[in-house]
Amino acid sequence: MQGLMQDWPLTVDKILDHAKAWHGGREIVSRSVEGPIVRTTYAEIHERAKRVSNALLGLGILPGDRVATLAWNTGRHIEAWYGIMGMGAVCHTLNPRLFAEQLVYIINHADDRIIITDLTFVPVLASIRDQIPGVKHIIVLSDEAHLDGSLPGALAYETLVENASADISWGGFDENTAAGLCYTSGTTGNPKGVLYSHRSNFLHTLVTMGSDVLGIKATDTVLPVVPMFHANAWGLTFSAPAVGAKLVMPGPKLDGASVHELLETEGVTFSAAVPTVWQMLLTHLRTSKGTLSTLKRVVIGGSAVPEAIVRGFRDEYGVDVTHAWGMTETSPLGTQATPNYAISQMDAEQQLQFKLKQGRAPLGIELKLVDDDDKPLPHDGTTFGRLKVAGPFVVGEYFRAEGGKILDQDGFFDTGDVATLDEHGVMQITDRAKDVIKSGGEWISSIEIENIAAGHPKAELAAVIGVVHPKWDERPLLLVKLKTGEAATKDEFLQFLDGKIAKWWMPDDVVFVDEIPLGATGKIDKKLIRERMKDYVLPPAAGVASGAVALAAPPEPKIYAPEPEPEPVVEPGHEDDAWLHWTPDAAQSVDRSRREAPAAPADHVEAPADAQLPFRGR
Ligand code: AMP
Repeated sequence: MQGLMQDWPLTVDKILDHAKAWHGGREIVSRSVEGPIVRTTYAEIHERAKRVSNALLGLGILPGDRVATLAWNTGRHIEAWYGIMGMGAVCHTLNPRLFAEQLVYIINHADDRIIITDLTFVPVLASIRDQIPGVKHIIVLSDEAHLDGSLPGALAYETLVENASADISWGGFDENTAAGLCYTSGTTGNPKGVLYSHRSNFLHTLVTMGSDVLGIKATDTVLPVVPMFHANAWGLTFSAPAVGAKLVMPGPKLDGASVHELLETEGVTFSAAVPTVWQMLLTHLRTSKGTLSTLKRVVIGGSAVPEAIVRGFRDEYGVDVTHAWGMTETSPLGTQATPNYAISQMDAEQQLQFKLKQGRAPLGIELKLVDDDDKPLPHDGTTFGRLKVAGPFVVGEYFRAEGGKILDQDGFFDTGDVATLDEHGVMQITDRAKDVIKSGGEWISSIEIENIAAGHPKAELAAVIGVVHPKWDERPLLLVKLKTGEAATKDEFLQFLDGKIAKWWMPDDVVFVDEIPLGATGKIDKKLIRERMKDYVLPPAAGVASGAVALAAPPEPKIYAPEPEPEPVVEPGHEDDAWLHWTPDAAQSVDRSRREAPAAPADHVEAPADAQLPFRGR
């Protein structure tokens, strides 16, 4: 028997309709790419988004066509986004931090018909224009006066909007219609497209509005630093209009001073970004003696939040940090580290330990922790396993991918993350499956070591990778980028780690580097680090950290250890794809002069003759 309620398709145009109807005067403030701060409202954005739909129809776009955006977080980007989705086309958010070759691949793979771009990205589009023949038009998010002719045929967004009618009906199609497309950053193989539906976006919005998730309200002023081109700004450009919150869009300026200026001048109460952005803000606040007079909450995700950031916000500025985990494939929010009742009864220091974990699953997300044979692992907070996830806003298959099936027999998607779940159902990521260091059959969490090392007062950033070791298979190597003007020794860092991690987790070496590369989504780019460090050889005394800590042998293998990740498959014709063959250009940035070479201990194991390649091929 069917229910007898109204058939009201869950399409995202209804979100902006709602914002216009009930919060029409609420402001959207943008730092424009041209420079000035621009103020608009949900009512104006709604009207202009409808004009965008008509302009796109006029340029030949049909429902289902992909229209790409290559743009910062601004009010215009929101107009384009709703204008595309409202008429039933697919909004493909391109990540401008990708290499030009990656953009070409993604644009052609998605078969984008139009690209709507900010002025910032006109040069890169001009350089690849002849390699993306399927793109019929490029629209520049500006006026005629700002078009410099470098992209022949480019259209001015403002002219199109001005000349188009706002008379168009949105929606009216099946809620499972595709709405958005976002490619994962492609840490192995080619980037993969996640094709969101109206229904998945709508449900994700409802779930993230919950007070144990993002919990934003009509009275909030929300600054999404997290870009719309990275997993839909964690859904904030849906959830803010859904509740009628004021939106502050930071445009191209994401440095500490610029973000701080907007936080203060616009009275921001809630913000969201990856840890590196918050680290830049805290550094700026401390050096400028700045204050945060309105900010109450920040959500941090994308990579693990370091304890120093949580404490810094809490103790110095009275701002509450909530840690979140997710991925492009989960729309993106998967878990949020808000306390359950039992955790809320603990003292502040105990609660903080739970804040550092990645959090609990909201309704709509199912989690499973399994070994390689898909056997469930205990939720004891210590056993590592593969994290799998299912739900109505989790990817079912990739767009136009070969091989098709990506779910297990129970319909769960393997996240590629290695995690623990504790007795409260709180999940903690211990590593990416391909980054976990396998030493003597045991696992070492690279993330845990780098988070602690990043808390050293002289460290700006830290990264840990596995280095092939003749006896233990792999051993951890710590790379540190020091704060400007600081100098440090390897022993200072090893002493700092001593007592905070198991002795056999202690890195075999510490290398000071000028740069720790971040990938297109702001995360530490381990793949590039491994590439840059491919000629690195452990010091002869690997296993004994000079003067500091003696390495204990790893215990006998007893826990789950996965099969190594398969080598990425290079599709014919893509052998030269840049992201599979990055040219290391900064191995020189490693300051080897600071590396100590202590004498080999008696039980030192000589490297086998084939140890010229110190890293496993990955
Ligand atoms: P992306 O699809 O680019 O957003 O990347 C998703 C991946 O980022 C996840 O599978 C995790 O490996 C990582 N990630 C996201 N949030 C966190 C977090 N809070 N802590 C640790 N890793 C995270």
